[in-house]
Amino acid sequence: MLVEETLPNWLLKRAYLTPDRIALIFNNKKWTFKQLKEDVISTAKKLHFAGVQKGDRVAVLLKNHPNTVMIIHALQLLGCEAVLLNIRLQEKELLFQITDSEVKFLITEEELLPNKINFHSHLPNAILINEQIQDLKEKEFEYVTEFRKNAVCTIMYTSGTTGFPKGVLQTYGNHWSSAIGNILNLGLQENDAWLTAVPLFHISGYSILIRSVLYGIPVILYDKFDEKRINQDLIAGKATIVSVVTAMLQRLIDNLGEREYHPALRCFLLGGGPAPVTLLKACKSKGIPVFQSYGMTETSSQIVTLSPEDSLEKIGSAGKPLFLSEVKIITDNKIAKPMEIGEIVVKGPNVTIGYYKREETNEKSFTRDGWFYTGDVGYMDEEGFLFVIDRRSDLIISGGENIYPAEVENVIQTHPGILEAAVVGITDEKWGQIPYGIFVEKDGWHVEEQELQKLCEEQLAKFKVPKKWLKTTNLPKTASNKIMRRRLREMIENNEWG
Ligand code: ATP
Ligand code: MG
Repeated sequence: MLVEETLPNWLLKRAYLTPDRIALIFNNKKWTFKQLKEDVISTAKKLHFAGVQKGDRVAVLLKNHPNTVMIIHALQLLGCEAVLLNIRLQEKELLFQITDSEVKFLITEEELLPNKINFHSHLPNAILINEQIQDLKEKEFEYVTEFRKNAVCTIMYTSGTTGFPKGVLQTYGNHWSSAIGNILNLGLQENDAWLTAVPLFHISGYSILIRSVLYGIPVILYDKFDEKRINQDLIAGKATIVSVVTAMLQRLIDNLGEREYHPALRCFLLGGGPAPVTLLKACKSKGIPVFQSYGMTETSSQIVTLSPEDSLEKIGSAGKPLFLSEVKIITDNKIAKPMEIGEIVVKGPNVTIGYYKREETNEKSFTRDGWFYTGDVGYMDEEGFLFVIDRRSDLIISGGENIYPAEVENVIQTHPGILEAAVVGITDEKWGQIPYGIFVEKDGWHVEEQELQKLCEEQLAKFKVPKKWLKTTNLPKTASNKIMRRRLREMIENNEWG
């Protein structure tokens, strides 16, 4: 008989196995798994009282807070699909995602709602948690005690760096496999505790909640990123693993100074985007254990990770695929040879089943045998370590030569007075495209174009050196703080610049 594969409800199971272990720490407050389960059940009953039912799709627009943790687990217990929304989205983006995902409810707080939009006209079923949820009555419902592996657990929108954000369907099986792949790589220690200052609405934070209940380890939650406080906690040995993006790691290291982390701290899991080699080297020289990783919303968190033991020899690499996942490089419809550049293509039980309502893109991005074309470009070295180069859509072709913006940006960023930089290809009659360099100075610096020009000429082939420089005070970014090169290109080509 063919039986659909299921998993036990991971929170209920964890609370049954180890009820007294610590599950969550926020400021000075702690929850055991038993208490977490009780609070989640109570939250679910309140949501049910408000009308939320099994099978409903529910948007969540919330900051990092224990309530958010309860709501995320409660939606699983109720059997609802959760659409996690980025709190930094502009109102138009927010409306698009709410409408596109066709949610029935929105759980949020008044202060996160942009004033101009009348959300109630779009979404009559908004539940404002501050004002309402505490006061709601509780209504009994039938708990979801088993998760179907193929059922959708969450929909998360991609950051919108290369185009319109797409709703990624993440199943229970995806999240489960991601957590297993992670632990087969990192291992599990009795004292493990995961510091979570990355947002819970993003896969980086959400995945930690799932790991916590699967592994039976605490989440140490922060409502905002405060390098001073986090460093104090890490020096005191309060966490063993920390998820960070590059900007967070940089701020932590700058703030750390001559102090040292507690020896219990065994992993900075670094993801979300490229990391400058200078930062990785600085961490290495201080003995700070950084695990560089590569992943995306579509892979339900990291899919490739570099262990510190390899980090010096393979500096700049994102590592090797996690145990359950595979990676290959495709060029001209063939598997590339080692060191040959091509599109990064991935497979594994952590990879999404597809984008919501994007038939055409799904058709293009997924093969029948389960490979997903990431749209990123990179190569594998002889030993199978992945090097991510850039986004395929940002590739500049100038006079028939390929220019990867990230390579040029990395050179510009070695100038001490540069805060950030972007390189984009602008249409040109003679060359097809030519690279422009756009830069932002650090406070108190004055950087001349000639200095950047010289720096690039010294380190790059002539065709890669920007033909024009533009100075600005801020670059267009997504709600996830990623530079939107496509927007920059548009601004320059449509004469919207300066
Ligand atoms: P969209 O898909 O809407 O354009 P996005 O790709 O930025 O947005 P995310 O899923 O948040 O949305 O980001 C994943 C992307 O981040 C990857 O596809 C890759 O381009 C980039 N990235 C992640 N890790 C790394 C890394 N180690 N090195 C370089 N780039 C990385
Ligand atoms: Mg993407």
